[in-house]
Amino acid sequence: MRRVGLLGGTFDPIHFGHLRSAVEVREQLQLDELRLIPSARPPHRDQPGASADARLRMVELAVGQQGDLQVDDRELRRERPSYTVETLETLRAELGTGVALFMVLGWDAFCGLPGWHRWEELLQLANLVVLQRPDYDLEVPEVLKDLLAARSASQPERSHGQIICLSQTPLAISATHIRALVAVGASPRFLLPDAVLDYIDNEGLYRPLTED
Ligand code: ATP
Repeated sequence: MRRVGLLGGTFDPIHFGHLRSAVEVREQLQLDELRLIPSARPPHRDQPGASADARLRMVELAVGQQGDLQVDDRELRRERPSYTVETLETLRAELGTGVALFMVLGWDAFCGLPGWHRWEELLQLANLVVLQRPDYDLEVPEVLKDLLAARSASQPERSHGQIICLSQTPLAISATHIRALVAVGASPRFLLPDAVLDYIDNEGLYRPLTED
């Protein structure tokens, strides 16, 4: 069965926390493909600092030409807010039922799952891959404890319906911290790819608005 991994996020901006996750999940689960999916107007978060086009460009710059990670811009091509469950439905419709889907979530995103639109249907469409995240110490909600007990698997075997918890190289990097550094004129170098940092500098992203 072909295995496709999906890592959604605002990527505002993309950083090495995302990129290491993508590479390590791809290798640990022996995925045929891993797609980074920038979200357009995240329904359950603050609006992002950079435009959708800029965030997509930064993801493309980060991935480069190497071809081991793919960029999927389907959520940016939609008019409406992009709910993850709808994204998975379009992917399922395109790829068919014979493909195993693995939706990758950091621990913080996983703990917030019960607030997501139609979240209980996600496992009917994909497996979930939950990654540790060293900078977040969140208590998992009761409803997710039950779900973890019922659906956890160490070896992914199915096209959907399983939860796989993976450990990875801990990188306490967040986009919030990078934006805060840039806003005060400090350097976020070595937290994200140089090509992305050059783009941020050239476009003047995340700087505070100056009053004339
Ligand atoms: P922000 O700080 O703006 O909230 P973020 O750094 O959390 O952004 P997102 O684009 O929101 O980045 O994250 C997309 C996905 O990547 C989420 O599932 C998140 O949990 C995961 N993720 C982000 N940073 C890391 C990291 N350092 N280690 C592991 N997972 C991460």
